[in-house]
Amino acid sequence: MKFKIVTLLVMSSLYANVLQAHNNKDLTEQSIVESIRSHYEFSKPLNKFSISYEELKPIAFQSYHYKKPDLIKSTYLFDFDIEKKQFYVNEQSYYPGGFIFDNVYFSEKLHTLYYDINGFEQGKQVLKFDAQMNDFKESMIGVADFLVVDKLLEEVSTKKIKVTFKKNNQAIIQVPQKDNMFVRYIFNTHPIELKSVYFSKKNATFTYNDFVKSNGITYASKVDYLVKNVLNKQFIINNVKPINKIEKSKLLLPSGYGPIINEEDKPLEFIKIAKDLYLINHVSGDRHVLVKENHDGLMVFGAPISDKTSNKVISFINKNIPEKTIKSVYITHAHSDHMRGLTAYAKKNITILADEYSIEAIKAYPKFKGEIAQFKFQTIVNKQLINGVRFYIPKNSHSKGQSFAYFEQSEIIYEGDFLEVPFDNTVATHMSQVEKEFFEFVRKEKLKIKRIVGHHRNNNITLSHMNRYYLANTPKTKSNL
Ligand SMILES: [Zn+2]
Repeated sequence: MKFKIVTLLVMSSLYANVLQAHNNKDLTEQSIVESIRSHYEFSKPLNKFSISYEELKPIAFQSYHYKKPDLIKSTYLFDFDIEKKQFYVNEQSYYPGGFIFDNVYFSEKLHTLYYDINGFEQGKQVLKFDAQMNDFKESMIGVADFLVVDKLLEEVSTKKIKVTFKKNNQAIIQVPQKDNMFVRYIFNTHPIELKSVYFSKKNATFTYNDFVKSNGITYASKVDYLVKNVLNKQFIINNVKPINKIEKSKLLLPSGYGPIINEEDKPLEFIKIAKDLYLINHVSGDRHVLVKENHDGLMVFGAPISDKTSNKVISFINKNIPEKTIKSVYITHAHSDHMRGLTAYAKKNITILADEYSIEAIKAYPKFKGEIAQFKFQTIVNKQLINGVRFYIPKNSHSKGQSFAYFEQSEIIYEGDFLEVPFDNTVATHMSQVEKEFFEFVRKEKLKIKRIVGHHRNNNITLSHMNRYYLANTPKTKSNL
């Protein structure tokens, strides 16, 4: 789970390339450009403004059931002060199982600081990174038609544009980009209104609908984003308004937050955490993989994010335990970020351990289509014991078939998205539904727990922390006192 604003930043590269200047436009081209310029005049002085919108994205392989994709919702509030190069962003994302990520990014001198409001993901730690106001502005530019047009108006003075007029009062303006790529804008001409913008580089289109006017600003309130003509995201713009400045409190860390740490890639670590059980740290950032050593070979727990990551993990395991080969790899559930590295294992003839639903989802996952014939599976069922590892598949609201592994001898659990505990053991002010389900399940089963290794973030969650977390977020009744 979790894509964050960083994925949005990728979209900014759509605009990146510039060709040589050219001033050979004919009058017709000029007149349409002038009409657009005068219609969007309001946006020119708009260098301090606030915009809030919702983003809805159907993501099959982040849903409870891949055949019934959930609309993953995120809400954004952006404040920009272009003059002072300051910004504030609040991003809230909702994932199946009741997970709410509630993050703030803001400019702090030459850096960006990033903190977590409910303490659910990062606790009180604050991340510092190099992205600047313009990176954030570019990341959301397609969402606002007037920002897209600003970009066009900037480019028409330096590039050779091609304008085609259509009979249905539409004008198509094509702006060349590097490597034979182009951006194509379609406008209604009576009245002037941007209908869509197409980026050939990504084969992606924004379409603009339901224009509203408020605070002297005209904007499309419904925006669709299509990739290869398939709806990828929908945006509902709730408000755009000019502001005088960004509130001071938004540009400060709330009290109690710290330390500030730099985002950096750390090398993999191989740590023995019990007899025949090893933890691999820093897999693709803050993920964890476990390795269990059996007499006849190795079992791997977790295959996150990509084949590149898996190949790195596999070489690392081979280097650390050269005398044994990997026999199987287990995934907790069939969400893309937890299983995308499976092909690397399948190509090495390593058996995939997963429950029945997850295997069905793996077989349906488009990215595996080419190599699926090479995938070898072993289906696990609830409470099955394999080499001292008990697999549990509790009913849960995050993903159908989500399971966890319980190492009976060492009393250690490895889980995927049943529990989100930040590194610093902050007791978060939000607990998701699925975490409550998990907590109640392990209590009902009376599992002895020395340590929980989270796939994400904290790899040493204690039972006492879980108790504190649960009690802090559960109304007090007789049964849990
Ligand atoms: Zn998940």
